[in-house]
Amino acid sequence: MPELPEVETTRRGIAPHVEGREIGEVIVRQSRLRVPVPADLGERLVGSRIGTLARRAKYLLLPVSGGDAGEATLLCHLGMSGSLRIVRIGELPGKHDHLDLVLDDGGILRYHDPRRFGFVDWLAGDAERDSRLSRLGPEPLSEAFDGERLYRLSRGRRLAVKPFLMDNAVVVGVGNIYASEALFMAGIDPRRAAGRISLARYERLAAAAKEVLAAAITQGGTTLRDFVGGTGEPGYFKQRLNVYGRHGQPCRHCGDELRLITLGQRASVYCPHCQT
Ligand SMILES: [Zn+2]
Repeated sequence: MPELPEVETTRRGIAPHVEGREIGEVIVRQSRLRVPVPADLGERLVGSRIGTLARRAKYLLLPVSGGDAGEATLLCHLGMSGSLRIVRIGELPGKHDHLDLVLDDGGILRYHDPRRFGFVDWLAGDAERDSRLSRLGPEPLSEAFDGERLYRLSRGRRLAVKPFLMDNAVVVGVGNIYASEALFMAGIDPRRAAGRISLARYERLAAAAKEVLAAAITQGGTTLRDFVGGTGEPGYFKQRLNVYGRHGQPCRHCGDELRLITLGQRASVYCPHCQT
């Protein structure tokens, strides 16, 4: 599943090819995505120009202006299996290539999604006011996210720290992989009640979450050219992980066997020796 680093890598990969371009044609081959593609998307978009791409949590925002519909934003989510890439006119679409934005320089921004849990939706006016965006917590790599915030929001809560860290109202974009890795790095047992963790430990946890996400984004940078051309699925990379997906294997720090548990309906792997 594309996590925040993959979405950020997607933004960086496609931005140079779409920003400032005018949309000449919109081709929708499959409109039944998680949110149905608006039937008149083409009419609204043709003739408009794409502004500066942004990302909020795991949403990509493509501002458009100058067309018949005025200022608006295309809100895109990659769901479980979505991807965006740039192809040239004449490159035939594959089975799961559901939507093309044909650009005025002969490029096409092509949306691919075998499982169709992602979407491309139209937001008129101020995108920040859309309910999908307005309730989100801060970005994990922003200054608004720190140990003090985790400490303050967790007081009195018995919820385990891992689902607490994965709550989008607390901080966005810390999915299962990065929550697992950050808790390992900070030495915190994922089952520990969120309200029973000290400020000092939350400061370590926030720093660890920032570190693992930033490392993944840096690594994603090596895949940026994969966003152009070809028929593969671009941009997803395998980081060296310490705990996620490694249950039954030895801990890299102490050699003990990593343990698998279920927390908040999600698989969690941790080291019973290093994480307390
Ligand atoms: Zn260990």
